Amino acid sequence: MKSSPLKTLAIFTLLLLCSKGWCQSDLQIIDKKVNFGYHPATNRPITNIIIHSVFNNMGGEKYDIDLVIKQFAIYRVSSHYVIARDGCIYRLTDESNVAFHAGKSKLPNGKSNINSTSIGIEILTSFDESPTDLQITALVKLVKALKKRYPIEFILRHSDIAPDRKTDPWNMDWEAFIKQVQ
Ligand SMILES: [Zn+2]
Repeated sequence: MKSSPLKTLAIFTLLLLCSKGWCQSDLQIIDKKVNFGYHPATNRPITNIIIHSVFNNMGGEKYDIDLVIKQFAIYRVSSHYVIARDGCIYRLTDESNVAFHAGKSKLPNGKSNINSTSIGIEILTSFDESPTDLQITALVKLVKALKKRYPIEFILRHSDIAPDRKTDPWNMDWEAFIKQVQ
């Protein structure tokens, strides 16, 4: 694949800015739109935010965003956002679409079909590592922005809505996070 010097420069600059915490400066979102793991929708009610964690479990760098997306492709799932270790936020599909991230699950009010009413956010962590401070900062900003746009009723962990199947998000100080977004 041939890439223009300008494109190379643009990518290099973006990588440099990311490594310098550019993603932290404001709510900067990088598009990495997928063509699987969601179905298009318009005007759906968005009342819930579900937090997950994920890593690449198929060989190679475990926090590589492209490998994580490849893994999603195999399982035909997706979230709306993925937050990388450096705090960069990637958007995989628009908020208006129904992303397949929750699976069989139930809200505290007994409602199911949570994908249809929620925004899914994945944090790149693993079983033995906590989210980074940059990730938590980005997550707090993102969730606060979502709360401004939608009448959010529940902010929950995947493990809250599917306790018999799921344990994520892993190693996260949930109470501290919730305090920050209230
Ligand atoms: Zn999950």
